[in-house]
Amino acid sequence: MRVIVQKFGGTSVASPELRAACARHVQAALDEEYGVVVVVSAMGRKGDPYATDTLISTLGPADAVSKRDRDILMSCGEAISSVVFGSYLRSLGIDVSVLSGQQAGIVTNDQFGEARILEIHPQRIQEELNQGHVVIVMGFQGATSEGDVTTLGRGGSDTTATALGVALGAEYVDIFTDVDGIMTADPRVVSDARRLGQITYQEICNLAYQGAKVIHPRAVEIAMQRNLPIRVRHTESMDPGTLVTNAGQTFEVTGVNDRFVTGIAHTAHVSQLVLNGPMPDARAVFGKMAEYGISVDFISVAPDRIAYTVKDTDTDKAVMLLQEAGLNPEVHRDCAKVSVVGAGIAGVPGIMARIVDALAREEIAVLQSADSHTTIWCLVDGNKMQKAVQALHHAFGLAE
Ligand code: ADP
Ligand code: MG
Repeated sequence: MRVIVQKFGGTSVASPELRAACARHVQAALDEEYGVVVVVSAMGRKGDPYATDTLISTLGPADAVSKRDRDILMSCGEAISSVVFGSYLRSLGIDVSVLSGQQAGIVTNDQFGEARILEIHPQRIQEELNQGHVVIVMGFQGATSEGDVTTLGRGGSDTTATALGVALGAEYVDIFTDVDGIMTADPRVVSDARRLGQITYQEICNLAYQGAKVIHPRAVEIAMQRNLPIRVRHTESMDPGTLVTNAGQTFEVTGVNDRFVTGIAHTAHVSQLVLNGPMPDARAVFGKMAEYGISVDFISVAPDRIAYTVKDTDTDKAVMLLQEAGLNPEVHRDCAKVSVVGAGIAGVPGIMARIVDALAREEIAVLQSADSHTTIWCLVDGNKMQKAVQALHHAFGLAE
């Protein structure tokens, strides 16, 4: 049997009209005689009654609940949306089986809140498919081998979808969301962002790691291991969206020649910490951060200066730790990291000049910058983020 996995994100299942649009995709796949596995996220976004963030906000302080119990609560949003969507499909005469992550055979480690999938036993799904049922799997969740419910962390439903796709040997994993596909920048920030027809796993991974949250990088990495094609598509359209596959096919299909910059990504809400002066001990600084679970980014170490970023939510803690160690950091809160991402930027002359020039024209100061063979990052003031992303998008002609 040819199998397709369809993942519907939170906004895609948020209203009856949208669920009708989702159902049209299920029906279209059934018409093409696919075995259909549906993965759903919790309904809506923060503030909506059954969204995961809303469920968490019903709890008191983080330390008043065990991580194990918290995961039980966090997994409820997907349980609700699966049953709601399942009953809607049934009302259309489609045979449906709703399965929890555990019932779907998703076994994880016991790192509650951020569990990793260890193995998948897809027999139950397979049996249901063989009976002609559409199988709806609650996204974002699994269970330990002891049977404790776990959740998979941010982007968890994307991970459920591609992991099931691999386990079932699916032909495609379709990620349905509220944008037309993978765009050259977040369309909420850049109004003339353009959809990419095709993109490599590597390119989308790089964009996703730099903040393009349209698909979670972990989900892409899972798909990449088996060359499982992903399509990122708009729920309310029959358009095929963006195809994510291997290198080698990209240029011909998109018609974009010499595409060396794929897109511009951004991450907001970070703070820059700078230590100046006589040789701060880098080992002690980063050791302290690691000890307290503060993840650091954008590290720049020079003989007389150390600079790095942390998430705004970690800033107070980080500053306290540094002060305890007798250091006196300069702190720039509410910065944003904007990134020019492209597999082809390595060694292309003049890229940095173009970036600096585009930002200077808008009077945007670069607080720090760094580069790798696929990405150039600039740290800017948070209230200049949108302007910076737009300026870079324009400077590299991405709207054309
Ligand atoms: P879902 O609930 O469907 O998982 P997400 O909010 O996780 O949806 O992801 C979709 C969002 O990703 C879009 O609404 C868009 O604002 C954002 N986004 C960020 N960067 C990009 C990009 N390069 N291309 C497309 N969407 C992007
Ligand atoms: Mg998402």
